[in-house]
Amino acid sequence: MNKILAFSGVAAWALMAACSQPTQVNTDDQDPDLKVINADSLGKHIEVLSSDDFMGRKPFTAGETKTIEYLQAQFKQIGLEPGNGDSYYQDVPLTEITTKGADSMMVESPKGKFALKGFDDYAIWTQRTEPKVSLDKDELVFAGFGIVAPELGWNDYAGIDVKGKVVLVMVNDPDFGTQDSSLFKGRTMTYYGRWTYKFEEAARQGAKGCLIIHNTAAASYAFNVVQNNWNSARLNLATSDYQCAVVGWVTAPATQKLFEAAGLDTALMQKAKQKGFKPVPMGLKLTTSVQVKVKKDMSHNVIAKITGSKRPNEYIIYSAHWDHLGVGTPDATGDSIYNGAVDNASGTAGLLELARAFKNMKEKPERTIVFLAVTSEEQGLLGAAWYAAHPVYPAAQTVANINMDCLNVYGKSKDLIVVGQGQSELEDILKEEAEKAGRYLTAETHPEAGSYFRSDHFNFAKAGIPALYVENGIDLVDGGKSEGEKFSKEYNEKHYHQPSDEYDPEHWKMDGAIEDLKLFFKVGKHLSQSDKWPAWKSGSEFKAIRDKQQHH
Ligand SMILES: [Zn+2]
Repeated sequence: MNKILAFSGVAAWALMAACSQPTQVNTDDQDPDLKVINADSLGKHIEVLSSDDFMGRKPFTAGETKTIEYLQAQFKQIGLEPGNGDSYYQDVPLTEITTKGADSMMVESPKGKFALKGFDDYAIWTQRTEPKVSLDKDELVFAGFGIVAPELGWNDYAGIDVKGKVVLVMVNDPDFGTQDSSLFKGRTMTYYGRWTYKFEEAARQGAKGCLIIHNTAAASYAFNVVQNNWNSARLNLATSDYQCAVVGWVTAPATQKLFEAAGLDTALMQKAKQKGFKPVPMGLKLTTSVQVKVKKDMSHNVIAKITGSKRPNEYIIYSAHWDHLGVGTPDATGDSIYNGAVDNASGTAGLLELARAFKNMKEKPERTIVFLAVTSEEQGLLGAAWYAAHPVYPAAQTVANINMDCLNVYGKSKDLIVVGQGQSELEDILKEEAEKAGRYLTAETHPEAGSYFRSDHFNFAKAGIPALYVENGIDLVDGGKSEGEKFSKEYNEKHYHQPSDEYDPEHWKMDGAIEDLKLFFKVGKHLSQSDKWPAWKSGSEFKAIRDKQQHH
């Protein structure tokens, strides 16, 4: 998952909730269907999926084969029906692009030439499939945040033609770090702030290259996460749309060097936060190249279902991505297997536990419950993007999506964090069920991280399907917020996208994940036994899509 687990700082809302905290209630007594969900079974699945044997579950590898066969076998064992006709698989054609960048990038300036060093100063790659892409003395233009938002009267490409040029842009939204939410959404990152949007918009503008200025706070992850893209293999959905030749990130110190060489003041980056900012040619020319190797192959979403007893043509989709980073750059201990135990063997195991619970329900669900383990989330939410573009079940007949990514392994929490708070009525159902269990919901502690765009539910949302995505709570029953923040900070700094994200039964407490799964089950059961169609709330950027779909 492209996600940073929530930590540090508490929303005012949580403070209010904190003083009127309900006490935890054992919900099993309220609903015997919950009894099925158990820690041993969940732990067993995580142990298997995140074992070295599964080699970090990278698509196209033996790790993929082991993973999808395990999931199919488990779905069959639980007694689920195949979810795609008579198959438990949905083919996802992908292109694997392996890039090898030249060691350096030459920068020509009026003050002379200098070189930036690949991996240290920048990390670039391409989504193109020709054998080599290059920059040849191509002009660099500083284009602010690289945003074109007509509905906000904002255009960072106004009055300049960047065709054949390289654009240098800033990550996040112009109001990042300000309290001003008059234009964008203040602390909450909009899709315009997301790195994928920056590349998509630069391509729409016909730019030859797009370099994003890295800033740990604004990106909400350190440059070493970006460095994973240097000289590595990346998967893409095959597309015929125009793509920039070169995309990537440049460090803040290297950016400083570029501005100095251009004789420009970095205060320009402050100016870019103002409406009416105009893009600035920097008078610099960039030269470098990237060798490209392409492999077309088929990855797989794994899909199973329980057909509804009364409204079989109405669907509730639970999703979780089964993939992770595979075998890569060894860490300091020499370990090169990125096991992805929390990210996302935990969510995938959760999918199996929920499937078992729905299959063992006393009363069959009236609507159809679908369990979808998607591929290639780490590569850009690709499996979910393919499903959304090639839905097995029509979006208009899909009631909701509930996505799981990184379950809580640090012990029961009193709270749960709703990502994209205020987006849909699904969170109202979750709130109701949470309060029955003596728990409370809080808003994201880091809305600037744009977590709503960083996991698979985003592709369901883009298809108009109300999508619920929850981050782990931090207000732990044992130790409160300080303990919760400590654990999530440790995960982010030490284990996130690192080989050390491994199954750790000695230190993990599964009861946290179990309590959250029971709530996800309750939301789905609630929807499966009702004829309600939860809607997007007004102000949601996804409501218009659904309104066009719905005829209920
Ligand atoms: Zn993940």
